[in-house]
Amino acid sequence: SVIAERMNQLAEGLLSIARGDHAPARQTVERVDFISLVRGVTTEMQPLFEDKDLHLDVNLPSKGVSIHAEADGLRRIVAILLYNALKYSHTGGTVALTVEEDSQGLTMEVSDTGTGIPPESLNRIFDRFYRVDASRDRKSGGYGLGLAIAQQIAREHQGHIVASSVVGRGSSFRLTLPAS
Ligand code: ATP
Ligand code: MG
Repeated sequence: SVIAERMNQLAEGLLSIARGDHAPARQTVERVDFISLVRGVTTEMQPLFEDKDLHLDVNLPSKGVSIHAEADGLRRIVAILLYNALKYSHTGGTVALTVEEDSQGLTMEVSDTGTGIPPESLNRIFDRFYRVDASRDRKSGGYGLGLAIAQQIAREHQGHIVASSVVGRGSSFRLTLPAS
């Protein structure tokens, strides 16, 4: 049943956090080209955006950017942010993903033209199990774990994610990773 399946997903998510699947000690840290990693995830997810009639606008530097990181963790961050942008957007909207490099490191911004997040919720959406409106968001599924996991992985890379939003206009999530 749908409920059983969701309980399974929840249990798996919890177990994964409990096991510390993202503890740096157990991860393989390697040289990763962040740009081709991002391109890979966006290419994989493109059909989901087409299904919802959303435009996915990807802006990547022409050259690769090599960083010292755990590739699976970074892929997970990109997928979590894109999946949220997809889930909380209206048909016909635009999701833009932009990566920029400067002397400090890398930034990746994922912005959408979706529902937006009220100001009083902006500092809570990274908490485990927090969802802005459980009844509003219930039909879109989820347990409020994605952003908590993404923030944890970002921190493991000495980075962080910040959110900004205007209700009814859209939201923007910015991942910052130091140069390495
Ligand atoms: P899941 O565990 O499947 O990711 P979730 O999407 O509800 O479930 P998070 O990804 O942690 O959990 O997001 C927490 C809450 O923040 C969401 O429930 C939603 O209310 C809000 N949110 C996150 N991203 C967006 C976005 N792009 N636009 C609007 N609201 C968002
Ligand atoms: Mg989510």
